[in-house]
Amino acid sequence: MGKEEGRLTRRSFIKGTGAAAFIAAGSALVGCSSATGSSDSSASANQPTESDPSITWDKEADVVVCGYGAAGAACAIEAAANGASVLIVEKAALPGGSMARCGGAIMGAPTKIQQALGIDDSADALFDWIMTCTDGTCNEEIARAYADVAGPNVDWLDALAEEYLGYPCFEVAMAEANSGTEDGGHNGAVGGCLDATGCEYEKFGVSLDEAVPRTHWASAMPDNTANSGPELFDPLLACIEAQDAIEAVFETALAKLVVNSEGAVIGIEAEGKDGTVFYKANKGVMLATGGFPAGLDMQERFCQEALGYSTYMCKDCTGDGIRAAMAVGADLYNMCNYYPIEVAQQYHYNVQYNDVYNSWDMDGEGYMEVPAMNMAETHGGLVINAEAQVLDVWGNPIPHLYCSGCDTGSNIFGVPGNYPGCGCYVSFSFAFGRIAGKRMAEKETVV
Ligand SMILES: Cc1cc2nc3c(=O)[nH]c(=O)nc-3n(C[C@H](O)[C@H](O)[C@H](O)COP(=O)(O)OP(=O)(O)OC[C@H]3O[C@@H](n4cnc5c(N)ncnc54)[C@H](O)[C@@H]3O)c2cc1C
Repeated sequence: MGKEEGRLTRRSFIKGTGAAAFIAAGSALVGCSSATGSSDSSASANQPTESDPSITWDKEADVVVCGYGAAGAACAIEAAANGASVLIVEKAALPGGSMARCGGAIMGAPTKIQQALGIDDSADALFDWIMTCTDGTCNEEIARAYADVAGPNVDWLDALAEEYLGYPCFEVAMAEANSGTEDGGHNGAVGGCLDATGCEYEKFGVSLDEAVPRTHWASAMPDNTANSGPELFDPLLACIEAQDAIEAVFETALAKLVVNSEGAVIGIEAEGKDGTVFYKANKGVMLATGGFPAGLDMQERFCQEALGYSTYMCKDCTGDGIRAAMAVGADLYNMCNYYPIEVAQQYHYNVQYNDVYNSWDMDGEGYMEVPAMNMAETHGGLVINAEAQVLDVWGNPIPHLYCSGCDTGSNIFGVPGNYPGCGCYVSFSFAFGRIAGKRMAEKETVV
């Protein structure tokens, strides 16, 4: 039980959230004093610049990735695969973020699994669906770039699993039914891999029987009948741990970006166990800190209607990446757009993962109780282009700054209330995570 389809209906969501809003960032100036109002950073109040004499670089890499979840891991792997050295900076003590505790679904088309099961699908059909189910409010360029890579990214994850774990991530089998398993839930462990769940297809003139199955559920461990998020993240973890080119530091939180006199991002200031550290990024910084479902000050500022909500998302996802980018002039979009859950749910994971991935709210048996009135994924955040570059309030890329996942506001969700179906978050995070990693490694010149 307790999967994405148990969530609040999109109709009531729309009713509760109102219209989308464009919100300009507080400061468009680079290198001036910021007003970030950071809740958990003890860093200085000023925006750090290259000329700041107090900056001594503690580490250096081509690409510095902030956040070791879906978008960050995908970015790191792709950057390293294209020749970059990578430093992952993670706030928590363990990797995975929300992704390693998700339901285990990833969306994509066309995929090898679909092909093996005789499902006729295409990137064009996925693009059309994104535009349809967002009532055309999704940025077309973003939807196109997403749709073109979503299918190959499912195959990519499966190939990583084969290569680094020695077994596939997905079972070649249809799920039991599009409407879910008997207890109302959905997962690859008991239901096979492929289905079409999560979206209110009927609202868009598509019956559930006609909906193209493009949600892929990772296979859970044999003794676990529950959510397979950890198994979905495992191939990424195994791959990263096998790479000499990727280093990860934990319990270290991005606080601010460091910029040079041209406004290019050249590194980060972070808060580690032993105080403030500075990491130099020769080719770029990736923001992948998972949005602000746990960020009270961000909710107060941008989405007051969600103030009373709890969250089942990663407790370290407090909007740090968004805040750091705001201080260097990044634009914001759709800030009070999120997925609300109004019915109580229960998630169950294989307990063996409690020492491997973050286990917020989990009991000793791997159960996570999700109370009603839950602010799940935040959809509002930084504006990016189809190359995952963060844009300033004038629509120009901020040099060497990239973003994907829940830190992104220009995504595939359109205005509040839209949801393309189960697995869309991880596949969106992968899409622009990999695009960013490749672009930084291949195209950015060293600063
Ligand atoms: C219970 C549950 C079920 C879900 N089911 C699904 C599903 O089946 N399919 C699907 O597609 N999506 C699902 N989701 C949503 C999905 O997991 C997220 O949308 C996705 O992981 C977002 O990716 P991300 O990279 O933006 O953030 P995350 O994966 O959360 O990664 C963000 C990382 O950044 C770290 N971080 C935060 N602040 C800082 C900082 N200042 N410095 C450094 N690091 C920082 C966090 O600790 C975290 O590790 C589910 C989520 C939950 C919680």
